[in-house]
Amino acid sequence: MTHPQQPVHEVLESRPFEVGDGTEVRRLIPQRRLRTVGAWCFADHYGPDDVSLSEGMKVPPHPHTGLQTVSWLLEGDIVHRDSLGSQQRVGPRELSLMTSGDGISHAEESPADRPPVLHGVQLWVALPESGRHGAPAYEHFTDLPEVEHGVLCATVVLGSHQGISSPGSTYTPLVGLEVLVGGDGVLPLEPSWEHVAFVLDGTAVIDGTETEVGELVQLGLGRDELSLDGDGARVMVLGGEPLEEQLVLWWNFVCRSNDEVVQARADWESSSGRFGTVAGYPGPALSAPPLGPVRLMPRS
Ligand code: MN
Repeated sequence: MTHPQQPVHEVLESRPFEVGDGTEVRRLIPQRRLRTVGAWCFADHYGPDDVSLSEGMKVPPHPHTGLQTVSWLLEGDIVHRDSLGSQQRVGPRELSLMTSGDGISHAEESPADRPPVLHGVQLWVALPESGRHGAPAYEHFTDLPEVEHGVLCATVVLGSHQGISSPGSTYTPLVGLEVLVGGDGVLPLEPSWEHVAFVLDGTAVIDGTETEVGELVQLGLGRDELSLDGDGARVMVLGGEPLEEQLVLWWNFVCRSNDEVVQARADWESSSGRFGTVAGYPGPALSAPPLGPVRLMPRS
């Protein structure tokens, strides 16, 4: 069931987690029944949260390998800092895309002069073998392409949709769309890809079923369209060519084996230089959690 070979409609519930110093998130991917969608291997949805009185988001410096991180905000601002020296304030509807290659570290926090509400998603894309040993990179784009399908307006956050591509770098065929649903419409999909959809804001009818924030709709493979209905709801659609590689996800690492995880953890804990250092974050970096007693196994 991890990779259905045909269209399905299965609703999976998100689970609550806390990331950094106190940001509550709804973890939509991975699930026991859904590890990857194309190369998408992680999805957290947070907010809308009132960050006017709290400290807002504070995620201290931490490492990544084998993935791209995608930050996409509906409301609010965050500041991204990384070990390449990037320091970027990111606002709503701007793509913050970090490619780890073999190793990078970064921090994300709410700026002091932040708007009162924070609402967004953090997504990870697994890098294929051909891309995961390369150099790290950071990209930021403020103007992303939109494709209209009647009452639906799809913003191409990452990848390609109907021949229209996001400017963000990708390594496998995939798409990430934010769809503004202004009525009863039909979104074309690439039938050779697998897809999921979830509600970012409001309530939408996804593939004929009323769907709430916090639910992930697994759509499977082989669909050439998706029906969406709503009154100003925002729906995220993630899809891609099924990833043939077996991943081992642990903490902030996307690896292929237990040994690679052990090495990445040791490289971070020993400040080996693989992940660099993040300047300017007001606080210490995160330590890796202890590894469990059981060797990590790849999950397809
Ligand atoms: Mn991160």
